[in-house]
Amino acid sequence: MTKKTYLQLHSSVQYIKGIGPKRAAYLNRIGVETVQDLLFLIPHRYIDYSQVMKIRDLKINDEATILGRVALATAQRTRTRRSMVKVVLIDETGEIVLRWFNRPDLKTKFENGMRLLVSGKVSFYHGAQMINPLFEGIDDKNGDGFNQGKVIPVYPLTEGLTLWDIKRAVTIALRECCSTVPEILPSRLLEKHALMTRRDALFNIHEPKTVEEARCARRRLVYDEFFFFELILAKRRTAIKDTDGIKMIDKGTRTKELLELLPYDLTHDQKQAIQTIARDMAAPRPMNLLLQGDVGSGKTIVALYAMLIAVENGYQAALMAPTEILAEQHSMVLSPLLEKMNVRVALITSSIRAAERRKILGALQQGTTDIVIGTHALIEGDITFNHLGLAIVDEQHRFGVMQRAALVNKGQNPDFLVLSATPIPRTIALTLYGDLDIATIKEKPPGRGDVITKIIRERDKHDAYKFIRDQLALHRQAFVICPIIERSEKFDLKSVQDIHQEITRAFPEFQTGVIHGRLKTPERIAIMETFRSGRIDILVATTVIEVGVDIPNAAIMLIEHPERFGLAQLHQLRGRIGRGAEKAYCFLLVDTYLKEETYERISFFEKNNDGFALAQQDMKLRGPGEILGKRQHGLPDIRIGDLDADREILFKARDDAFDLISIDPQIASSDHAMVHLHLRALAEQEELLRIG
Ligand code: ADP
Ligand code: MG
Repeated sequence: MTKKTYLQLHSSVQYIKGIGPKRAAYLNRIGVETVQDLLFLIPHRYIDYSQVMKIRDLKINDEATILGRVALATAQRTRTRRSMVKVVLIDETGEIVLRWFNRPDLKTKFENGMRLLVSGKVSFYHGAQMINPLFEGIDDKNGDGFNQGKVIPVYPLTEGLTLWDIKRAVTIALRECCSTVPEILPSRLLEKHALMTRRDALFNIHEPKTVEEARCARRRLVYDEFFFFELILAKRRTAIKDTDGIKMIDKGTRTKELLELLPYDLTHDQKQAIQTIARDMAAPRPMNLLLQGDVGSGKTIVALYAMLIAVENGYQAALMAPTEILAEQHSMVLSPLLEKMNVRVALITSSIRAAERRKILGALQQGTTDIVIGTHALIEGDITFNHLGLAIVDEQHRFGVMQRAALVNKGQNPDFLVLSATPIPRTIALTLYGDLDIATIKEKPPGRGDVITKIIRERDKHDAYKFIRDQLALHRQAFVICPIIERSEKFDLKSVQDIHQEITRAFPEFQTGVIHGRLKTPERIAIMETFRSGRIDILVATTVIEVGVDIPNAAIMLIEHPERFGLAQLHQLRGRIGRGAEKAYCFLLVDTYLKEETYERISFFEKNNDGFALAQQDMKLRGPGEILGKRQHGLPDIRIGDLDADREILFKARDDAFDLISIDPQIASSDHAMVHLHLRALAEQEELLRIG
């Protein structure tokens, strides 16, 4: 006799009838492991069956959904050698041609007689057609799907699973487990915002009767996501406010000396940022400040100023950068200044030799080194400070929360400053970094022109080369950026070496160099130095130079395969040029064929120079992970909510979360028992939430 096992929220999805190990593996790939994960797999859109149109009624330029049968399916090559899959779809009123370009994977997808639900834009080419429409096969054999409701959820699909596999599994999960999904919000919040219960929300998100119902359900789940995200921030913030820190006063001895040594005046925004920092450092609680400013806005010198305040007060300061190249650069730029002031500075990276390292460690421990600059090598266990007063993290999105915490823990509640070059609007920043105070540098140092950016088609590459040649002849320097080191069969991308060869051939009269992450440190330093000194004209590089690198004479950048990068990353890359007085140019080399949305993204980048606008757009397209540092911020993922479109819910959730913590800092009241439990569950899931 087989024992009947009951499906539970934490059961593996493989135990859902009809799934099994093989399909479960496919679900795992989209992050769905348990029944609960499946319930929280949110449809990314809905097809409103009541809106399905008849083919006869379609008009050119309509965005439409139709339902029909495949009458003919063929695969062919176009005259320009693109692969094309063509389907003639019929319903009882007429026919339409569907064409998919560059989707050879679809060749075997369609069979005559198969029912398809298709949505896309109607255009005209020897009759009505849709190009690259979205489609779902309607599983006739089981006759389900359409019989269930008028609004069909569409899930993020994964290879090996049809929409109907997912729908069926979700239906079972809802029926068997949804009643055990607990309510996690206090009822006063549900009432305040007219939110449905969590259970209802799950039912309605998967099986809505109307699109409006699905929208309300989503609103509830988005609220939850934001609320708990903010709750963690609120908790962290109060924890910091209750901690004793170090008071350090801007005495104006060292700091004034610095200002006199600089060959330029600080910008208004830099001064403002310094004021904020000085105020927070002087306060009796630990500073916890985010300094955000666009690439090239001059954050480094502000950071140095802060470090000098620490030194003036008899404390040590540490500056941690995400790459060796950047740490080396900071050391090279800052050391001469510091030496003039008799401030003792050291550099620690993982490629420093053992004997040297021992010496530095000794000096740090004895307090005879004032400032240390380094990579994550700074947080290794055997490094101890004598009296660390200020910890700074540059390009904070490149570090995990653990690494940031490890640096801070090298001192006793030191002040903490994080620098970010992916600026986001203040309202959003306050919400995302709710545990930090924020200072923003908006203006750039004077005399900088905007970088002129231009998309270049592969076939027009030689025009760009000619332009670059003329610029190089004026003794400017260029970067050529390549997304990968090794050649990749899968993506058909050129390797750094391929591109280097090509560039060397195209520019025989100029010196070229290559730099990437697999080079040994001394070699890499040598190449950076040669480039900095102007003896290399064109540097072919991977993204090792993405952050922080500052070479004012580099005025040109050519980016190969820009489609491989996100907007914020492209902006970082482009931020390497336009740092001098010369006009700077950035070329984006694209293949002739690019997906429309990819092209749109790149062309958004072409038209926008403002880091704020780009970061916001990136957030919209790729979620906040990209901005916050993916899975590194020690906060739950925001998967359902959209920081831009749902910002109203975000702000409400933030206020509610901060209110809750102010009335019940420990989340201990009986009203909040479920809040507390859910927070704990999230923390276990993330393992990281308690830190930071
Ligand atoms: P980021 O904010 O991207 O870290 P950096 O700190 O590297 O920018 O500064 C970029 C460049 O601008 C550096 O060469 C720096 O010397 C220069 N710079 C910084 N502040 C000023 C200023 N007030 N006036 C002129 N140049 C400045
Ligand atoms: Mg920087």
